[in-house]
Amino acid sequence: ADYVVVEGVGKTYNEGTRQQVEAVAPTSFTVKAGEFVALLGPSGCGKSTLLMMVAGLDAPSRGTIAVNGRALTAPRAETGIMFQDPTLLPWKSALDNVLFPFRAADRGTPATDSATMARAATLLDQVGLKGFHGHKPRQLSGGMRQRVAICRALVYEPDLLLMDEPFSALDAITRDEMNLVLMKMWEEHHRTALFVTHSIREAVYLADRVLVMSRRPGRIIEDIRIPFPRPRG
Ligand code: ADP
Ligand code: ADP
Repeated sequence: ADYVVVEGVGKTYNEGTRQQVEAVAPTSFTVKAGEFVALLGPSGCGKSTLLMMVAGLDAPSRGTIAVNGRALTAPRAETGIMFQDPTLLPWKSALDNVLFPFRAADRGTPATDSATMARAATLLDQVGLKGFHGHKPRQLSGGMRQRVAICRALVYEPDLLLMDEPFSALDAITRDEMNLVLMKMWEEHHRTALFVTHSIREAVYLADRVLVMSRRPGRIIEDIRIPFPRPRG
């Protein structure tokens, strides 16, 4: 079944003013439940803008988006999100950062129920941060911080995981490591995922399908299915 349906969606910033920028040209695509889709395109083509619209954090100038059969009008509590900058709270431990809601729809207060706390601890162990639950962000490396951010995006069991170049700021080796961590988490938790990247290698490595965008104003110009099992390494 189609989980995400994007129909004729376009975005023009500052429409009708001299600062008008057409960021995304009207474009359509669907993502099936359980699929891992990469959105690939050159820098500035409108990938983030498209992702923010699917997150419900930015309104389309035209077209419609539906998620799980419902028109998207606001951020959903069931959408998990990751950005290039993990934006952890510096005064909170890794565990508390995982528990502190940071989603497309923000609950505002951290969960303290034992089931959520246990899930957060398990997630941290799964990404290789056993023994680091109490560490503050400044005591962790860049890769470790993104591991915390993966846990935070998954802790409320989102049905849809949106990722905007989450590993672009990391060095090549850490980035490969993080792709492995993400695949492992994907196999454990298997959510529908949309991953923005400008790296062909990363897109092909991670995704079941790659949607290729043209230069700004971007629109999807190719829809490529990656054979399963996918190439690794
Ligand atoms: P990408 O993620 O592919 O690098 P973006 O979606 O970030 O592309 O940006 C697409 C275009 O829209 C760029 O030209 C960018 O400068 C412009 N843009 C992004 N956000 C805004 C904004 N809030 N106001 C005006 N222009 C913007
Ligand atoms: P289909 O088009 O029938 O979904 P696919 O080749 O896309 O066939 O995938 C077969 C199954 O394997 C699907 O249920 C898909 O969600 C799942 N799948 C694809 N990639 C992965 C992965 N990396 N980890 C776990 N399951 C996956």
